[in-house]
Amino acid sequence: MTTDWIALEQQYYMTTRRQPIVIVRGQGTRVWDDKGKEYLDFTAGWAVNNIGHCHPAVVKAIQEQAATLTQTSNQFYTVPQVQLAKVLVEQSGLDKVFFCNSGAEANEGAIKLARKYGRDHRNGAYEIICADHSFHGRTLAAVAATGHPAYQEPFKPMPEGFVHVPFNDIEAVKLATTPKTCAVMLEPVQGEGGVNVPSRDYLRQVRQWCDEQGLLLILDEVQTGMGRLGTLFGWQHFDAKPDVMTLAKGLGGGVPIGAFMARASCAVLVPGEHGSTFGGNPLVCAAAYAATSWIIEHDCSANAVKMGARLMSGLKALQRQHPREVKEVRGVGLLQAIETHRDLAPKIIAECNAEGLLLNPVRPTIVRFMPPLTVTEQEVDEALAKFGRAFTRAIAN
Ligand SMILES: *Cc1c(COP(=O)(O)O)cnc(C)c1O
Repeated sequence: MTTDWIALEQQYYMTTRRQPIVIVRGQGTRVWDDKGKEYLDFTAGWAVNNIGHCHPAVVKAIQEQAATLTQTSNQFYTVPQVQLAKVLVEQSGLDKVFFCNSGAEANEGAIKLARKYGRDHRNGAYEIICADHSFHGRTLAAVAATGHPAYQEPFKPMPEGFVHVPFNDIEAVKLATTPKTCAVMLEPVQGEGGVNVPSRDYLRQVRQWCDEQGLLLILDEVQTGMGRLGTLFGWQHFDAKPDVMTLAKGLGGGVPIGAFMARASCAVLVPGEHGSTFGGNPLVCAAAYAATSWIIEHDCSANAVKMGARLMSGLKALQRQHPREVKEVRGVGLLQAIETHRDLAPKIIAECNAEGLLLNPVRPTIVRFMPPLTVTEQEVDEALAKFGRAFTRAIAN
């Protein structure tokens, strides 16, 4: 007898909505459900499995570290944390890093750092300018930073000190700046907001404004980091180096880890002011070190550029076939989306599930693509063929 895992979960779990698929195994760009059906996974665990599911290098690192040392208290030094810290500092040109357990927690750390910086260097300024349609996570301060009222409404009052401006509008950032402002916090490309790509010079202009005003530029690279946009960090694509950067998702190769990094000039936290029981533990750091080293050594960013171009040209061809249904195809590297005029995303996703292609309906009109960066030409072509068939069925009824 087969177990109905979906019914069981609905009985026991305080759940959110899910697609009706129970995934039991993954390998590379593919996953299998509990009935043995195979899927091409173009969600990649929310842009987490950047080198695919169960990558041998990550599996080996986890197995070896699990048998050696998984956790100490952060009273002591451990080795994998230092190895990972060193490579991230060298690659980013930022000076210091702190490890935590998720993207939201990384942003919490960055927010605390910015507030302390404002206290020390800007007469107690504490306000952070964020963007509409941004997403920074589900903890209270991260929700307050998130530019999406629906995520805030049920949990009010929100922590104060966050103001929101339209994304991709430098004048709005300037107008919102006051003596209370300590930082500007943005995603290089907004992921959960629907894959919103700013104009080429927006981040550079914000960078310049922050320099003129003495504000910190915090870039939330939780989704865009670790090669996704075709550069190791998204800001490299836009040539706008931040003062503070947060990472999570793709950093761990599938295990939960987050990080915030800072220039020495604003790495103002001192011992006792921040911490985490599990943050930087040997198990996750060994996995993250293996995944990060693989991304760098095999130049997965370059593959993201190539495969991203192939995916986009396929989606644009579909747009030319269906100009009345498709409003826009957009994205950078392997973070892409197709937007329709009608609310077609739920139907498209149901048809894609049937085809054996996993995608994310990030908005009712928007479907998001974020495959592993190790995806091959054949897999991109296969996904495009499946998507084309699913799309045709979705618009037909
Ligand atoms: C997913 C995401 C977060 C939150 O990360 P969690 O690990 O879910 O807490 C924060 N910022 C961005 C840009 C994200 O995409």
